[in-house]
Amino acid sequence: MSNIVEDRFAEKTTEHLRGLASQSDAIRQMYFFDPEHENVPANREVDLFLEKQLTRTKGVVYKYPGRVIILLSYTCAANCRYCERQDRVGVGLDEEGRLTDEELENAVQFVAEHNEISEVIFSGGDPLTHPHGLRLACQQMAKIPHVRILRVHTRLPLQLPAKVDYDLLAEIASLGPTFYLSLHVDHPDELTEDVEEGIRRLRKLGAILLCQSVFLKGINDDLEVLTQLFTRLAELGVRPYYLYHCHPIATTMRFVMSLDEEVMLMSRLRERLSGIACPQHIFEMRHTTGKLAVPSDHWNVDLSHVRDFVGGEYDTVEVAECVEPPQPKQVFPLE
Ligand code: SF4
Repeated sequence: MSNIVEDRFAEKTTEHLRGLASQSDAIRQMYFFDPEHENVPANREVDLFLEKQLTRTKGVVYKYPGRVIILLSYTCAANCRYCERQDRVGVGLDEEGRLTDEELENAVQFVAEHNEISEVIFSGGDPLTHPHGLRLACQQMAKIPHVRILRVHTRLPLQLPAKVDYDLLAEIASLGPTFYLSLHVDHPDELTEDVEEGIRRLRKLGAILLCQSVFLKGINDDLEVLTQLFTRLAELGVRPYYLYHCHPIATTMRFVMSLDEEVMLMSRLRERLSGIACPQHIFEMRHTTGKLAVPSDHWNVDLSHVRDFVGGEYDTVEVAECVEPPQPKQVFPLE
């Protein structure tokens, strides 16, 4: 009998992940519903990172100058238990959880009308679960003269490697703007032979490959695990880009590490890894603006207070630990 309650963030996995989870406790924790820690209703009202407030037209989040996020699809091949968008993933923009062609046209028009936007970032959910929309949007965005970079964030190559549409990605890579593909990888157990083979195919497409990861207690809070992960990614031609602090919401608290623990690990990593294998440690404050680079413990700095991109000052302990953090002092002014 399932122990998942209906209004909880749904458990969703793939055969590929179920096979891995039978051999890896890290993968099991990443994807399987934990009734002890997740038995609270999904909060559909929260506005993590001001994405709802800063939505300009459906699915279009304009938060930082010069780059815009298109939330193309709220579907993923599998649901990560620490997902920062679990208020929306699996719930959807419409019944299918995807932007319609008409909504995509509005998104393209928005970008066309803002000639300061040079980078278009497709995220979700997972944009590769909406191939028709991704093809259409990339084709249209590539025709806008001021769009110089197309970036796609995906976890599909790790969750369901057999379903990656390489023809579509090759087409996007050929459109003109520089194409970045950012994978999300948190543990070396995710890098199976078929996943690595997929990464080699992605490299041949002409995409620049990046990786984003999250510090996760009980999964990758270990120097050896992180060393193995980032070393292997660099060897595969995937540049580790950001390593995030996990965002504390009611259902993710079991994964959240203290900033001090993260700084210690990150500093030891910096001592061990080649620069090309070392990601930037990022503390992103909810309800405010700024992906803030955290200094290593090689510097004597006070980590207890921080200033965001628009001058708001915050207590990091309060922001890191409270489920309902302070309201922003100011957000990025659009016009
Ligand atoms: S793949 Fe990304 S968006 Fe989808 S559930 Fe995992 S973290 Fe969330």
